[in-house]
Amino acid sequence: MTESKDIGILGGGVAGLSLAYFLGEQAEVLEKSTRAGGLCRSFEKDGFTFDLGGHILFSKDQEILNLELSLLQGKLNKLHRSAACWFKNRFVKYPFENGLAALDKEDAYECLLHFVSNSRRPQHNFEDWIYNTFGKGLAEMYLLPYNKKIWKTPPSEMDFEWVERIPKPPIEDIVKSAMGIETEGYVHQLHFYYPKEGGFETLPQTLEANINGRITKDFPVERISKTSTGWIVSNGSADRRYRKLICAMPVFDLIKCLPDVPSEVRHACENLVYNSLCVVLIGLNRPRKHDLVSCFFPQSDIIFHRLVFHDYFGTNYVPAGCSSMVCEITSKYGDEIWSMPEEKLIARVVDDLRREGFIEKPEVVTTAVQRTRYAYPVYDLGRSKNLQIIKQFCKQMEIDLCGRFAEFQYDNSDQVIRSAKTVSERVLNEVGLH
Ligand SMILES: Cc1cc2nc3c(=O)[nH]c(=O)nc-3n(C[C@H](O)[C@H](O)[C@H](O)COP(=O)(O)OP(=O)(O)OC[C@H]3O[C@@H](n4cnc5c(N)ncnc54)[C@H](O)[C@@H]3O)c2cc1C
Repeated sequence: MTESKDIGILGGGVAGLSLAYFLGEQAEVLEKSTRAGGLCRSFEKDGFTFDLGGHILFSKDQEILNLELSLLQGKLNKLHRSAACWFKNRFVKYPFENGLAALDKEDAYECLLHFVSNSRRPQHNFEDWIYNTFGKGLAEMYLLPYNKKIWKTPPSEMDFEWVERIPKPPIEDIVKSAMGIETEGYVHQLHFYYPKEGGFETLPQTLEANINGRITKDFPVERISKTSTGWIVSNGSADRRYRKLICAMPVFDLIKCLPDVPSEVRHACENLVYNSLCVVLIGLNRPRKHDLVSCFFPQSDIIFHRLVFHDYFGTNYVPAGCSSMVCEITSKYGDEIWSMPEEKLIARVVDDLRREGFIEKPEVVTTAVQRTRYAYPVYDLGRSKNLQIIKQFCKQMEIDLCGRFAEFQYDNSDQVIRSAKTVSERVLNEVGLH
């Protein structure tokens, strides 16, 4: 048995690393992988760097943003978001409702008419919310097909609990947008930060550099047992002892590691719905042809739902004279897309990019694929009830939950850091270490 700290943190993504940062010397992290960072890791191939899906640094939470900016001082570029939606073979400014003047006149009319004369329906699910908030035109042309595609779940089977993430456009903006007067949506991320080098992983790396080595990597937690004074955490060959435990790894793993979990809790956990993600890097031997950072694709016959033009983040991210695209594809774990051999997935992406006029095949000089099992918690109609059962159980067990898949929330890294701050303050009070 290794002599351990007072507080054990399971999982070394941004949540676990931030917890260790806020909790100080009495806490340590156990991470399954040989590299910390979880979903915020970056990868490099042949001089092209890419993230596990497009990550940018922004926040509505000024205190957390200030903390991130001070930790990453000197390491960031400030950039302007310039994004588009691909619709009927043209770019429409993102978010779609702010680019109506680029549509055919009949389409713009449909969007505008139904937005201003929208008759609300009873609101039971995400689809109702989309119709009520945007009207039939915007809903059916863009929002429903895009959301069906990314969530792999019909919006009518999803809750609308999480929609504060989606800004609701004022009527003035929609009218201006249809008339071609410039407006901006999602203004909180109109300007964002991105590391000058190293990709988004610079964020977890910097957090890790600030926790003075209090992390054990290559430690996949397999068993957790309660003792009279605290906890024993085991990876099958080594044990650690803690007074207090915080779970910053997916809640699925936590439930698997605990003995004697009531069947109601196990079922609730099995019934949580999530999406996995495949990202395909496409490295091109020519410079970029537009000024976009990303582009969204609602079309069901195009395999990816978003392209991130990674070279937008800086010249360090591609070899000289080159450009790159990171194609994001959601899937269900184990389904046809998830199980597709790499070459087939790449060939499909390249075909779709060529057909839509984004690349010529000979321009492709590098490709790579990364798959992430736990990428998006899905807010299906059962999530809230299932989560309540799991949270109640964890509370009884006195295990705190922190992070995107521990709390099963559609949180960005800034929200995860906020949660880590809240949880660590509570835990320090509880264990009397303040
Ligand atoms: C496509 C995509 C785009 C995104 N874009 C943005 C963005 O633009 N800006 C932004 O701020 N955020 C963005 N996010 C969200 C961001 O990635 C997450 O909020 C954040 O990374 C979550 O951190 P976490 O520590 O909670 O979880 P994770 O990163 O999932 O970390 C969990 C950790 O637990 C470890 N673990 C798992 N099982 C075990 C085990 N048995 N034992 C020990 N360790 C274990 C894992 O290896 C991992 O390191 C995006 C996410 C996705 C998927």
